[in-house]
Amino acid sequence: MIEKRDFYINGAWVAPAQANDLAVIDPSTEQTCGVISLGDQADTDAAVAAARAAFPAWSALSLEERLAPLERLYTIYKSRKADMSAAMSSEMGAPKALSESSQWGAGAGHIKEAIRAARAYAFERQSGDDWLYHEPIGVAALITPWNWPMNQVTLKVIPALAVGCTVVLKPSEIAPLSSVVLAEMMDEAGFPPGVFNMVNGDGAGVGTQLSVHPDVDMVSFTGSTRAGALITKAAADTVKRVSLELGGKGANVIFADADEKAVKRGVLHCFQNTGQSCNAPTRMLVEASIYDEAVETAVATAEQTTVGPASAEGRHIGPVVSEVHWNKIQGLIQDGINEGARLVAGGTGKPDGMNAGYFVKPTIFADVNNDMKIAREEIFGPVLCMIPFKDESDALAIANDTPYGLTNYVQTADTDRAKRMARGFRSGMVNANGSFLGAQTPFGGYKQSGNGREGSTWGLEEFLEIKAISGI
Ligand code: NAD
Repeated sequence: MIEKRDFYINGAWVAPAQANDLAVIDPSTEQTCGVISLGDQADTDAAVAAARAAFPAWSALSLEERLAPLERLYTIYKSRKADMSAAMSSEMGAPKALSESSQWGAGAGHIKEAIRAARAYAFERQSGDDWLYHEPIGVAALITPWNWPMNQVTLKVIPALAVGCTVVLKPSEIAPLSSVVLAEMMDEAGFPPGVFNMVNGDGAGVGTQLSVHPDVDMVSFTGSTRAGALITKAAADTVKRVSLELGGKGANVIFADADEKAVKRGVLHCFQNTGQSCNAPTRMLVEASIYDEAVETAVATAEQTTVGPASAEGRHIGPVVSEVHWNKIQGLIQDGINEGARLVAGGTGKPDGMNAGYFVKPTIFADVNNDMKIAREEIFGPVLCMIPFKDESDALAIANDTPYGLTNYVQTADTDRAKRMARGFRSGMVNANGSFLGAQTPFGGYKQSGNGREGSTWGLEEFLEIKAISGI
């Protein structure tokens, strides 16, 4: 159990201005697994003031001087893998094997790649007769969600610091323990005081205080489209840059010539992290000629998917993050039933024999119409919608008929068709035939999936201003 009521401000752990305890609940057991404090205005102000004061000296260091503590952090992050993975398992329910692989590994990969990209980046470059200087924007507030905790936190903290910004991190109040561990690592890595600050809090409190704060130059946010819109409005009066990584409702278009594993792979991908991924392929669009067979395969895959606590060994899916979220998912499954989608696997209620823990049955709806609520809203649980399509243009029309545009997927043996689909999708990312994008590609969405791009070079540029200079 991690009890950390203090915040990390100006290079030290400091008590909150006012006690305001929040229990962190382990979704596998429904028991308290940690205690933090929710900050208030005085805590936010102290963290922003520390970041503001540290900015001139930190941004004036050479790149190598800034990268030195980041390199140390990378070493510490690897040496404390067990602590970090355990924190994520207890705060958000990722099974041990997932925490130790993708959940922890995403953080390690982003630290490494941001350092590499910073070394390769031309911070000063010529443009015609003029010069462009890429300079840090200043104090960045970093607001993150609970679903891939270290993935999201490292995608922001590392590039922001590498380019010379100073930061105030506000992790999700639902999953704050991994960021407490990260702050301990930052402390050990030896950053100058005030360069990295962390204040726990909720959206209405510290999240909003950071968004409106006159001494914050930028908010980098990952989370729901709802909160992203609120932050944008809150930041408008101070004309902050607001970078948004928001929700998704990805289509996975499976043509009749797709490889034989395409359907099973798509179901497992949808269920990965218990369906709690912004880029999950949650709408499976299947060509009519193979649709019935695909439904059978999807049902069999869901029935083979085991559900269990984060502590259990093996490849199963864990609980969803909280009781509130479990209830939301139950409501959406019921909406699907009420709207006439054909429930072919799973459904409402907990899996048999699982009483404690926020466990959801792996659920498949067939014959979904893209106008149904379950096809339009992010369910963020292990729930797949299957939709038949006639031809390529029909598939593209359905795929793009969504407010979101994060990742779409296509499965076909025809490379020309895969390329046409990739061009036609209105989304920031496209994955063909079970492939994954590499560490050096940008992550981000079109439409209501956001306006930013994280990762590698693009992640650095999120935190940079461009100064244009003539005559020298
Ligand atoms: P959320 O929007 O409820 O909360 C995210 C963070 O924002 C938390 O730290 C929360 O405290 C804070 N917050 C909430 N309201 C706020 C407000 N009004 N002002 C300032 N801060 C506020 O999201 P969540 O439930 O934690 O995460 C799930 C969402 O995140 C999903 O929609 C998912 O798709 C999205 N997500 C997107 C990406 C991406 O890169 N596109 C990655 C992961 C998750």
